[in-house]
Amino acid sequence: MGRARFRFHGDLNDFLPAARRGAWLEYEFHDRPSLKHAIETFGVPHPEVGSPPDLAAPLKDGQAVEVAPRKYEAPPEGEWRFVLDCHLGRLAKYLRILGFDTLYDVRLRDAELAEASAAGRFLLTRDRSLLMRRQVAQGAMVRADNPREQLAWLAGKLGLWAAAAPLRRCLRCNALLEPVAKETVWERIPPKTRRWCEEFLLCPGCGQLYWPGSHYDRMQAWIRCVRGF
Ligand SMILES: [Zn+2]
Repeated sequence: MGRARFRFHGDLNDFLPAARRGAWLEYEFHDRPSLKHAIETFGVPHPEVGSPPDLAAPLKDGQAVEVAPRKYEAPPEGEWRFVLDCHLGRLAKYLRILGFDTLYDVRLRDAELAEASAAGRFLLTRDRSLLMRRQVAQGAMVRADNPREQLAWLAGKLGLWAAAAPLRRCLRCNALLEPVAKETVWERIPPKTRRWCEEFLLCPGCGQLYWPGSHYDRMQAWIRCVRGF
């Protein structure tokens, strides 16, 4: 039989009962578990772990393991790509407002969400067991219930404000919007708007029409509000 000790740092302690947070925790084993297996036995999903870096390595007898959260650097503008589980519809919409490629479809099953993560999307979920699936490469469990708090938390974690490219993506279907000539969509513009607005954007995915003053002003006010949250 082997023995090892684990201590969890930072917000990885969110996954532990209060009495176990920040303390050295004993772990006994018979076979040769990987670090990933041992860490997940404590309830901490592997995508949230940054150190030790090689989670596939076997755990050694007598090992004392300091487990630290994964740290992310802000990527270039718009680079983050996300997939969200069915509980996170509002957060998905917010990420689209900020211009991020966001896959959200309530029909997607757990296996498909995990596959989307394996293909390069950052998985956001309320389901710890989904995050523990082997295929999930990067992702996090969303702790807060309130969508604005969720966004503020995620923005802090991933450096999203620096990477945001707002107002370029359809909120309904995620497609990138394209400029469209006013004459082409004339019939769809409310008479009052026809008088003053010259810029229109059309979604090639679902046909939704956008223009400054309607969705834009509200969204921009919203972004300022959430940034200050
Ligand atoms: Zn659309």
